[in-house]
Amino acid sequence: MFGKLRVKCPSCGKVLDITDNLPCPVCGTPLGPAGGAVQIYRMGSPIGIAVGFAIYIDGQPFGHLGNKETTYISLPYGSHVVHLAQGMNRKCNDMTVDLSPQAPLVCIKAHIKMGVLSNSIVLEPSTPDQMPR
Ligand SMILES: [Zn+2]
Repeated sequence: MFGKLRVKCPSCGKVLDITDNLPCPVCGTPLGPAGGAVQIYRMGSPIGIAVGFAIYIDGQPFGHLGNKETTYISLPYGSHVVHLAQGMNRKCNDMTVDLSPQAPLVCIKAHIKMGVLSNSIVLEPSTPDQMPR
């Protein structure tokens, strides 16, 4: 058992949240922690945008993140690019994270920055003590 973890099936690409090792419901590939993890916390938005952020890791979709939600995404050790998008708006300062046995967890806070023409999503590094449980 472990905390809720978002995984992507390495075989068929199905994204789901799991709390224990289990086979992929689509193709039967065993799913479990991949080594490291990225925790993303979407800070509350005062402008009441209820639309979920779409999560992309290395260009691959990894589900959604609602307002004030947090998710742990299981990823293999190595370098990964984190990108969030909101609807058609894909303005985001993509963040590159490095996961290793020495630093298996990277925490990121995400919020919306109001712009003159359009809003953008801002990612900033964080620490576990600043993240919700
Ligand atoms: Zn699968």
